[in-house]
Amino acid sequence: MIAGCGGAPPQAIDPCNIVEPACQRKVFVALEALRGQLWDPWLSPPRVEVLTPDQHARRVERELGGSVVSSGWNGSLQNLGVLARGVDVGDADRGWYIDKVLAVYWYQLGRVSIVDRGAPFDDVDATATLFHEYAHAAQDRDLNLGAAVAVTTDQEIVRTALIEGEAMVYDRLAAAAMTGIAPRDFDWDGYFRTWLVRERAGTATDPSAHVHVRRALPYPLGGSLMARAWLRGGRTGINHVFFAPPRGSLDLMLDIEDRAGVALRPSLPCAGGRHPEGARIVDRDSLGAAILYAFLARNFGNDEEAWQAALTWRGDVLWLLSEDRTRAAITFWKVHAPDLRATVVGRRLEGRVVPPVLDGEHLLFWDAADPALVERMRAALACE
Ligand SMILES: [Zn+2]
Repeated sequence: MIAGCGGAPPQAIDPCNIVEPACQRKVFVALEALRGQLWDPWLSPPRVEVLTPDQHARRVERELGGSVVSSGWNGSLQNLGVLARGVDVGDADRGWYIDKVLAVYWYQLGRVSIVDRGAPFDDVDATATLFHEYAHAAQDRDLNLGAAVAVTTDQEIVRTALIEGEAMVYDRLAAAAMTGIAPRDFDWDGYFRTWLVRERAGTATDPSAHVHVRRALPYPLGGSLMARAWLRGGRTGINHVFFAPPRGSLDLMLDIEDRAGVALRPSLPCAGGRHPEGARIVDRDSLGAAILYAFLARNFGNDEEAWQAALTWRGDVLWLLSEDRTRAAITFWKVHAPDLRATVVGRRLEGRVVPPVLDGEHLLFWDAADPALVERMRAALACE
């Protein structure tokens, strides 16, 4: 067992055909040994099935019925430019899973499916993928992945990053063991930073950047965070991250940049806000630094400038308001980013009168047309 001992080499692992039960059992036992929590040596590994892309698509449609993000936000996200026009956020989420995913652990079914996209089933990558999915099965046993947790969009990104990040650690540890690389000799930083660069390159041009950033970025961001935790303290190091998780996507972004954590003063204490006169608050959320990055990359077009500007995020509240039942809902987004003005994007925002606008230490966005109503919202949702 190597728990708590990040530098110990994992036991010898050879690639095997992951469709065969003997291989599945070997990988399952090796994963449990690597993760240091083999509860029951007679425990059977979760079943593994191979699905065609069409079968996978039908499974996704059936099992991922709902999205964490309510479709009530569709109009707001479209007006922010981070969700394609006419697209439902849940459909876009399912579309991402259908197009991008190679293998899934279905907590709903306790089963792993491998999507047959023509790749071999018996090489290093395939075997490492089974380690990854069995890590999710182990997490499900520990954490109950299906438990409904009410979280903000920012917290959802962190949760995904921790779950995928831990699975990526065991995925890459297995790949390193199969290719004779000692864990400390593997270029963890290079691997996850290169991956992040690749994903970021697609943000500015993705009409549903909200989905892209929420789904794709947690892998390299969480992988980097968890790999560093594992190198510090093995399984115990990873547990520490689960017990004291990052406060938001900002912490993930700062960590991979090797930038020290920043103090987040409670900048928006009245997160609920008062109901502006003549309108009621229907829903609220916090999008976090990663979605601020998506918003700035989409609307101002330069990925690196948007990323740097998003690192000035210190808090945000997104409100969905309704004047009455007959009219379209109104979005009001207030981002606390005291240093945004000093960034390249901030200088471009200076003097704007149409949203997004700079207002003191905040960035404001709204999609209401009536200037009087906007003024009433700004006053009621001031939170100072
Ligand atoms: Zn995964």
